[in-house]
Amino acid sequence: MTVLGIETSCDETAVAVVTADKRILAHKILSQVDTHAEFGGVVPEIAARQHISSLDHLIAATLKEAELTMADIDAVAATTGPGLVGGLMVGVMTAKALATASGKPFIAVNHLEGHALTARLTDDIAFPFLLLLTSGGHCQLLEVSGVGNYKRLGTTIDDAAGEAFDKTAKLLGLGYPGGPAVEREAAKGNPDRFKLPHPLKGKPGCDFSFSGLKTAVRRLAETCVSERGALYEDDRADLCAAFQQAVVRSLTDRVQRAVTDFRSRHGAKSYPLVIAGGVAANKAIRAALVKLATEEDMIFYAAPMELCTDNGAMIAWAGLERLLVTPTLNDMDVSARPRWPLDENASSRIGAGK
Ligand code: ATP
Ligand code: MG
Ligand code: FE
Repeated sequence: MTVLGIETSCDETAVAVVTADKRILAHKILSQVDTHAEFGGVVPEIAARQHISSLDHLIAATLKEAELTMADIDAVAATTGPGLVGGLMVGVMTAKALATASGKPFIAVNHLEGHALTARLTDDIAFPFLLLLTSGGHCQLLEVSGVGNYKRLGTTIDDAAGEAFDKTAKLLGLGYPGGPAVEREAAKGNPDRFKLPHPLKGKPGCDFSFSGLKTAVRRLAETCVSERGALYEDDRADLCAAFQQAVVRSLTDRVQRAVTDFRSRHGAKSYPLVIAGGVAANKAIRAALVKLATEEDMIFYAAPMELCTDNGAMIAWAGLERLLVTPTLNDMDVSARPRWPLDENASSRIGAGK
């Protein structure tokens, strides 16, 4: 089985072709980062227009690279939500047109399910697994029991981790997107010069909070400026190092709680601990979770860096997984959904408030 996947939910136009035996036959991403950089964040209207002008060419180029035509494709999958509605509509309508013209089913993919299942494309990971999904718009701990079967153990009560990286980068003058820039600066800095709060430390449950960290960095940066007349290179590096360390501590603290919670239902054996989403590209965060997994007797998995941030392969793969579960699937009547919680079918939220 071979599926074409389309991603247009934010500022990447991405297309890929993936097979059931886990081969990525072609995989192309057109990032709009340079376009949005001057605005310090994604401008939805501009993003949608760029998806319109790029998508057709990108699909043609991806099929060419895979040396396939639409006749070889079994289904067309597209991110249908959550995300910016203009971009979602471009991807969904293009995918539906392509599917209709070639007589193939259209598969509506939840972008978060794309992130969540990517590690199963690159590794053989069985259900159930514990997932830390941490990206630009989300930060959640999920118990993944199957395709479409998610239970949320915790979520952010304010900013997502990636959003906190982006906002921190912006206030320190590091540009957009912030995650990679903060990580680069942090590598040069001393994480212990500045003291940052530990959000929700000791609080029960598996929720996250990051907006206080960003505010604390802003105050410290203002203090630096008032004391030294400007924000110097070393100040910036030390602030980034402190911020990244605080994020690492916060994530590991919450993941540890989630492991205990997960084990209370599944028993003591080793289960996969998977990290996904754009923030999973951060080396310090990966290293901390590798260590935690070893200590907790869990098996750590993460997709390769380039498949952590948005891409078409994750959408093709999630579509393929859905199609394998339901071979007659065709979502032609499903429309773009700017909001689409991954666990909306779960009967209840578990692990909360404990
Ligand atoms: P969502 O998936 O929640 O809809 P999104 O698709 O915009 O949001 P992703 O593409 O998955 O998010 O991830 C982008 C986010 O990941 C950005 O916030 C970016 O700053 C962050 N990010 C990327 N690389 C790194 C890194 N090396 N360290 C920390 N954060 C990073
Ligand atoms: Mg993006
Ligand atoms: Fe994403």
